[in-house]
Amino acid sequence: METKPDYLIKGGKRLDGRKLADWREISIKTGVIENADGSAQVDFGKTKVIAAVYGPRELHPRHLVMSDRALVRAKYDMLSFSVEDRKRPGPGRREHEISKVTAEALSSVVLTEKFPRAVIDVFVTVIQADASTRITGLNAASIALADAGIPMKGLVVGVTFGKIYDEKGKGYMAVDVFKPEDQWGQADIAYAKSYNDNKVVLLQMDGDVTKEEFLKGKEMADKAMEYTYKEMVKALKGKYEVD
Ligand code: ADP
Repeated sequence: METKPDYLIKGGKRLDGRKLADWREISIKTGVIENADGSAQVDFGKTKVIAAVYGPRELHPRHLVMSDRALVRAKYDMLSFSVEDRKRPGPGRREHEISKVTAEALSSVVLTEKFPRAVIDVFVTVIQADASTRITGLNAASIALADAGIPMKGLVVGVTFGKIYDEKGKGYMAVDVFKPEDQWGQADIAYAKSYNDNKVVLLQMDGDVTKEEFLKGKEMADKAMEYTYKEMVKALKGKYEVD
């Protein structure tokens, strides 16, 4: 959307018809890349992301080797055609940052001590972007790791929330923001936790919210996460047991 809209919510309805606490349709598929040890595609509405996991395998370059645990390495990328204006191919600062926070979030759940000296490579590729790609990618990566049979404390689950305005400029917290809300809203917050022990593994905010607004948004996001987690488990069921 080129020009700032007069409102992002009116009469309780967002621009795509959702209410504040509604998330977009979620679709999850596992085993989408046969060559990988584990893989998944996760769609949050029009945001579509594929994750592929390779490993544990021998780590190169050797100076990165850790004698007591495995390295979890992540590479996030957006395809040129994933956005309306063609994106310049290859990683920039944004992609490096998202790769780093993705690797950190996943490292906190993978039982890395089980694979000393090895690397677990996670590739996250956005095929269509409509905001919340880092969180959608993290969800896909977490399922791909489980699909690869890599032991983890629990699945990482994430949901984005944000602050959007009505025609009078009043702000409201909303779950799973899409592109116009990410672009024009007062804030967007990427939030993920390790589901089993309820520990936050990623939290990034762009914009401003009060503490009350943050807690209100988080509460709504937690409900969306509960649903997302159940869908993730459903997608994995039959292959691996997840409690
Ligand atoms: P996230 O995708 O995790 O919300 P950002 O807040 O950085 O991360 O990006 C928000 C959205 O902006 C993306 O999901 C995508 O729709 C859009 N976007 C990001 N980078 C570009 C780009 N280089 N060209 C066009 N759109 C982009």
